[in-house]
Amino acid sequence: MHEYTVVDELIGALVPRLCEHPGRVRAVVVRKGELRILSDHALVSAFEILARGTRLEGAELVVETVATVVSCAACGYRGSTGRLVEEGDHFSIPVLSCPRCGSEVRVDAGRELYVDHVTLSDDSPADG
Ligand SMILES: [Zn+2]
Repeated sequence: MHEYTVVDELIGALVPRLCEHPGRVRAVVVRKGELRILSDHALVSAFEILARGTRLEGAELVVETVATVVSCAACGYRGSTGRLVEEGDHFSIPVLSCPRCGSEVRVDAGRELYVDHVTLSDDSPADG
């Protein structure tokens, strides 16, 4: 599943950065653009499995969705897009054309996937 690859890379990048931060990791908050067709549920279960044996074990993965923002070179429109809801599917996919003039648009937001922040608990490890 694609979610496993994504989460594996995310954990691999995050763990080394936590070295200088003692304390237990309580939550990892990621921001996911709505154009990324990734299941939140699959991301969370991939995280639970892949975090085992790392500093992130037992932490909660919180997925926040970033709304799509497009800009149109033809008419200057900037904002959200219309949505195309696939029948019989759980996804509603933003339409990547200008809602004002129908031209092709540039995507400014909606394709990102990154760790926004990590919540650490205050309790430091016992010192001797
Ligand atoms: Zn336009």
